[in-house]
Formats: sequence, C-alpha cells, structure tokens
Amino acid sequence: MRPGDTRLEPRCINALTFGAIFCNRFSLFHFLLFHFLLFHFLLFTFSLFHFFTFSLFHFLLIHVFNELLGNEDIKTVLRRMIRNGRVPRSLLLTGPEGSGKRQFAFELARAIVCTSPLDGEGCGRCAACARTRKFVFPAPDAKREEFERVFFSEHTDVGTVIPCRNNVLVKSIRELEREANFKPYEAPARFFVIDEADKMNDAASNALLKTLEEPATTSHIFLITSRPDRLLQTIRSRCQTLRFAPVPAYQITEFLIANKGMSEPDAEIVARLADGSLGRAASFDVARFRERRGAMLEILRSLRGDRPNLASLMNSSESMTDPKLKDEYTERLDWLRSLIHDVWTLSIGRDVAEIINIDIRGELFALAAEFDRRELARWLRETEELRGALVLNLNRKIATDALLLGMAARK
Ligand SMILES: [Zn+2]
Repeated sequence: MRPGDTRLEPRCINALTFGAIFCNRFSLFHFLLFHFLLFHFLLFTFSLFHFFTFSLFHFLLIHVFNELLGNEDIKTVLRRMIRNGRVPRSLLLTGPEGSGKRQFAFELARAIVCTSPLDGEGCGRCAACARTRKFVFPAPDAKREEFERVFFSEHTDVGTVIPCRNNVLVKSIRELEREANFKPYEAPARFFVIDEADKMNDAASNALLKTLEEPATTSHIFLITSRPDRLLQTIRSRCQTLRFAPVPAYQITEFLIANKGMSEPDAEIVARLADGSLGRAASFDVARFRERRGAMLEILRSLRGDRPNLASLMNSSESMTDPKLKDEYTERLDWLRSLIHDVWTLSIGRDVAEIINIDIRGELFALAAEFDRRELARWLRETEELRGALVLNLNRKIATDALLLGMAARK
C-alpha cells in the first residue's frame, strides 16, 4: 500500500471486517450484558425497597391491632370482619372497664376510613387515621345542652356520643339518628360510637332502637358498655356482641414498665390492683397508694408482739377519721381489709400468688407468723362489718376506735 492510498488490502479488509464484526459482537455482548445487569440491579434494588417498605408497613400493620393489649380472640374476629367486608351495622362491645372496648371500636372505624389501609387495617399514620383521634369534648361540668349532640372527630365520618354526667341524652341520640342517615362525606362509611351506652334512659333507648331497626347501609353504630344487662333487651338483640375479657395482669405489668417507666415492683402491684383494666392501671397514682396503704400497714405493725402499741393505734384512728380526709376513709378501710386478707391468706398456707399486696410479701409473711389465723379471720370479719355499716350514718371516729381497740384486745 502506498501512502495516501485509501484502498485497503484484502487481508486488511478481512482483518478489519473481522475486527469490526468482533468489535460489534463484543459491544453487543457487553451491551446486552450491561443491560442485563442493569435490569437485575434495578430489579434487585426495587425488590429490596419493596421488601423493606412492605416489611415496615407490615410491621406498622401488625402494630395497629397489636398495640391493643389482650383479647387476642377479638382481634381475630375483627380482622376477619374487615377482610370479609362484614363489619356489622350495629355492634355491642361489652366487658370490664379499661379492657379496651373503646379503642377497639375506633380501630375498627379506622380500618375503613384509612386512606392507606394495610391488609385491611387502618395504618394509624395517614391523615385520615390521625384525624379520627382528634375530638374536642366539653368539660365534665359543662351545661347539659353542650352534650346534646354527636361529637365528631376531625374526620367528618367518625363521631361519638358521650354521657352528660350519668345520662346519655335523648337529643344526642336523635342527632345520631339524623347523622346516621347521611351518606358518608369522605370515607366509604360513617361510624358512631355510643360511649357508656347503659346510661341511656328509656327515651334515648327508644330513639336508638328506631335507628337500629332501620339502619342506613353506610352507617355503623358501636355501643360500648361494661353493664350490658342495663340495656334494653331489644337493643341487645339488634346488635352483634363482642365480649371483652379483662387484660391479663402480666400484660399490664409489661405495659407499665415499657410505657410508663414504672419499676417492676410498682408495675406488678398496680397491675394486680387494676383488676384487668388497662385504663385504671395507666392512671394509677402509685405514690398516693403507697402513702395510704403504708398508714394502714402501720396498724398491723402496732398489733405485733405481746403488747400492742395502743398509742400508735389511736393515732391511726385519728388520721383515718380526720374530717379533712373524709372522702378517703372508705379507701383506707379497704386497704386495711386488703392487708388483713393477705396476711390471713398467707397464715392458712395459701399460695403467695393469691395475695394482692405482692410487692410487700416479705413483711406480710412476717406478720402472718405473728398472728393467729382465727384472730386474723375475726379482724377481717369486723373490718368488713364496719365497711358494710358505712351506709348508715354512724360516727366513724367511735366506730374506728372500737374496731382497732377490738383488734388489740386479743392478748
Ligand atoms: Zn391510615
């Protein structure tokens, strides 16, 4: 080849053609490989993202019902109702105070109004869920007229009726009846929770009965009560019933330690005293309880030994019947009764798990060794008699002196 000759020799052409073909094949191969890898990388990243978001949502989803303590069977029933689209138009939620009826009712409403439901349950995070939690209620001593209505949350399809003092007012039930006939504003359905439904008088009950008999297809009415026997039989029979059990003490204990920062002994005793009510446990004043029970424990301490400390007993009687603490008298007497009962329980050899004041079991065991079981049984009976006689207009100071001196007269 001469310089300037642009022609290519056949060998060279062959080599170039081969090179070009090779190069083309090479780049095609790499092109395909690159895109194959890119595709899989994106797929992997997406899957990873999907996995994490799904898991996160799944976690949130699980937490929605699971953050409510106890009543696992009811959670299962509610999940089934939601998944099958069979949330009843009228539902009666019964069970002890503080067992979670109200929270479950609102959680059920959230499952439907939620804008990003997860596996059928409310996400608890979206704006719709958040708005269902925001209510403004009148003060407990507000005028009666202020209670004569349905209180809507910031979500216009989730409302509640609450009692005014000891009555669910007929006007609020009539407004519920009107509202229940309206189509939902933004959610697929409307929800009305009647709190303490047993406080409806006859007029309110009859107004509600009318609504339950002709239910609007897009409205749900949930009745909450710890005394279902006080509802009209006709109301009960028109509602599907969910019966809540008390929350087990161990779950309340765990909740108090994790959420209220309580020490284990405090949480343990509060859980026992709460009697299955998470609400009662959460609002329990431990310091106040210790002070009251401590004063009553002092009575049992004064009775130890051969010579009971009469001066200390009279001091106890004095402070128990202090007119300034008039409202606390019954509570103090109940603590005295509870302590005597625990010491008696231990003195007859029953399981320590049966006592209430578990946090001071050491001292109660020591007291059980000091006293005779028959004597403890007598103290228990006398304390209960005094408790029963409180409905009569008796002189508490004289009665308490008599009780404590009677207890000291054992030796
Ligand atoms: Zn939501």
